[in-house]
Amino acid sequence: MVIAVDFDGTIVEHRYPRIGKPIPFAIETLQKLHADRHLLILWTVREGELLQEAIDYCASKGLHFYAHNANFPEENRLDAPRKLTADIFIDDRNLGGLVDWEVMYQVITALRKGSTIAPMYNVEEGGNVQRRKQKKGFLASLFKS
Ligand SMILES: [Mg+2]
Repeated sequence: MVIAVDFDGTIVEHRYPRIGKPIPFAIETLQKLHADRHLLILWTVREGELLQEAIDYCASKGLHFYAHNANFPEENRLDAPRKLTADIFIDDRNLGGLVDWEVMYQVITALRKGSTIAPMYNVEEGGNVQRRKQKKGFLASLFKS
């Protein structure tokens, strides 16, 4: 799968334009996803020198991306669609916030195997949003093959 990953607030704590402390298991999980042959794209607001600092930071931890702010390394962003064609976006601005990296790994692995993830919320008539009740062991049940 093609996975686009944000940097500030996702791989490291949000201290833009500085680089924050590492978020636990972010680098390790991304390395594992890379080893599983997913294609990782760094997808960040950083450009120029600040982008290079993020790339260098990740490289110093042994994490290398296929492309940076692009679908592929040689892509001319002026001619490209504004949105990447990634399968999954990982971003601290996701609805619901940043999911624990270990859970992300399990969900991505399950999705690759063909699992579907049921929505976690229901919207009732009148617009009330209710979190769906989940059975005990709900996450574990997603990953049974
Ligand atoms: Mg962010």
